[in-house]
Amino acid sequence: MATVLPFSGSNTDKQVLSRYLDIPQPDRTVQVEYVWIDGTGVGIRSKCKTMDFEPQSPKDCPVWNFDGSSTGQSEGSNSDMYLHPVALFPDPFRMGNNKLCLCDVYKYNDLPAETNHRHTCLAAMEMVKSSRPWFGIEQEYILLDSDGHPYGWPKNGFPGPQGPYYCGVGANKVYGRDIVEAHYRACLYAGIKIAGCNAEVMPGQWEYQVGPCEGMEMGDHLWIARYIMDRVAEDFGVIVTLDPKPITGNWNGSGAHCNYSTIAMREKDGLRHIEEAIPKLEKRHKTHIKGYDPTDGADNARRLTGLHETAHIDAFSAGVANRGASIRIPRQVAADNQGYLEDRRPSSNCDPYRVTELLVRTTILDETD
Ligand code: ADP
Ligand code: MN
Ligand code: MN
Ligand code: MN
Repeated sequence: MATVLPFSGSNTDKQVLSRYLDIPQPDRTVQVEYVWIDGTGVGIRSKCKTMDFEPQSPKDCPVWNFDGSSTGQSEGSNSDMYLHPVALFPDPFRMGNNKLCLCDVYKYNDLPAETNHRHTCLAAMEMVKSSRPWFGIEQEYILLDSDGHPYGWPKNGFPGPQGPYYCGVGANKVYGRDIVEAHYRACLYAGIKIAGCNAEVMPGQWEYQVGPCEGMEMGDHLWIARYIMDRVAEDFGVIVTLDPKPITGNWNGSGAHCNYSTIAMREKDGLRHIEEAIPKLEKRHKTHIKGYDPTDGADNARRLTGLHETAHIDAFSAGVANRGASIRIPRQVAADNQGYLEDRRPSSNCDPYRVTELLVRTTILDETD
């Protein structure tokens, strides 16, 4: 179990805060929170800038910079990194005209930072535009208490075995619903295409889905949804972990199933296009596994054991309604003879830009290794 030092950073009185947030915000001041992915490829950072007009698109927001030596992103003595605004959302925390501004990161020499996978994803999505690729990602995560212990678990032991918790109701079955509810509403306010949420199999584990999103929108919306989740949890003094298997033993890990379709798959008799994609995915299984977590498959090796509704990391498989397969064709899709496939391999801490890029390169651009 991860050891995290107890913290008290968010234990301030929110009623006192509300007194200050009631101070009217002067006209022609807009707080724009620049959000970016740090050098770990998992962590999210942000900092705020006052603008004197309300930006309508990311193009209205100036390029900014930050100290890469403090985020694991700089090279040698060149610590200045550039933030290029790419997507803009209403800010559910400050509300009003204030914005969240998603950025991708460039180095001093204008090359993309090592963890900037948006850059190549964009190139791929431009090439496959006419195929209208749609994605829906199911983001699973686990809530931890400030001491690193799963949220709501007894401090000196374990809760009862898995079974009653998935989609559960009741104080003895679900832990942390307040955080889930707050996140959902905040995402709706921000314009995130959040599709739903549910309590998961491990107590303290939850899922929300984002999608269907076309092309770049998948990565952009999921990263902002993750940012909002971290902020909401911060307010409640709880930690969100995207580690795919924080608790070893007979407890489910967390994934980020990626549901995927092209226009041909969605149209009448599109099932044959789904079936055509499967051997292509099988041939490139190792490459996909390498891109489906931030550690070239090491994180996912802890999760994809062949148990707990996963397929073993080394064995590609596909099947209708099979939740023990790498690729699942939902039963309804088989019945309708059209729809989408579900790639169950991505880890909860995957970068959605990498996952969606790999899917279109392998299945539409027919790239091989
Ligand atoms: P599961 O049964 O695996 O738990 P969920 O209901 O949690 O599935 O998630 C299904 C996801 O699939 C949703 O995010 C939804 O937006 C997405 N989805 C639905 N139709 C399509 C489609 N045609 N192409 C891509 N994604 C889709
Ligand atoms: Mn789901
Ligand atoms: Mn799930
Ligand atoms: Mn799923």
